[in-house]
Amino acid sequence: MSSENQLSLFEDSTFNQKELIPKDTKVAIPQGTYPSMMELAEHCNNCHRCQLGDTRQNAVVGRGNLQASIMIIGEAPGQNEDETGLPFVGRAGQLLEKILASVKLDSEKDVYIANINKCRPPGNRNPTAEEIKACKPYLLEQIRLVNPKIILLTGATALKGLLAEKRGITKIRGQWIEWEGRLCMPIFHPSYLLRNSSREVGSPKWLMWQDIQAVRAKFDEIQKSSF
Ligand code: URA
Repeated sequence: MSSENQLSLFEDSTFNQKELIPKDTKVAIPQGTYPSMMELAEHCNNCHRCQLGDTRQNAVVGRGNLQASIMIIGEAPGQNEDETGLPFVGRAGQLLEKILASVKLDSEKDVYIANINKCRPPGNRNPTAEEIKACKPYLLEQIRLVNPKIILLTGATALKGLLAEKRGITKIRGQWIEWEGRLCMPIFHPSYLLRNSSREVGSPKWLMWQDIQAVRAKFDEIQKSSF
């Protein structure tokens, strides 16, 4: 058989494998699988790579600008997100919008928002290590498609889920960490800020204010250098 024929057989088999992706965790999701977010979203909405697929109403893939320089990664959908299919639309989402607006970042234009897990864990429990592992290839594909320069990791699950970072969020929030040619900053999760309302110097809200200003400054620097 000619090598060209052999290659075309290989293409057919990868196509069949692709159809199996949402059903079978053993089928890998190689980098470059999805030409667009639409196809990725279709797989997520049919996905049963973990048990969260059995109880979701909607997979929550992302919202915002698909070409944004900043990507924000949260933990997993809550009830509002599960119902609407959009990330960060509940109380934590409203606070996130305010945080972005405080430094004139537009959530439609300047950022793309996604989560470590696409499906809601029942009762809003934390996603398990297995659930994070099953969903991670979708996130890596989202990062490849959006190609952000800056990634903000909101809370411990996002920090551990993407970077496998051992240090805690309170230790390293506000620091830039280079990962795969991108600049990542761990920041507090908005839900944590909702539980800690003090604005005093050194409080979580005050620290977030410092962090988001550093993000704005880096964003401006990147915008300038790309002209
Ligand atoms: N919390 C998250 O981490 N993600 C959401 O989408 C909503 C709340």
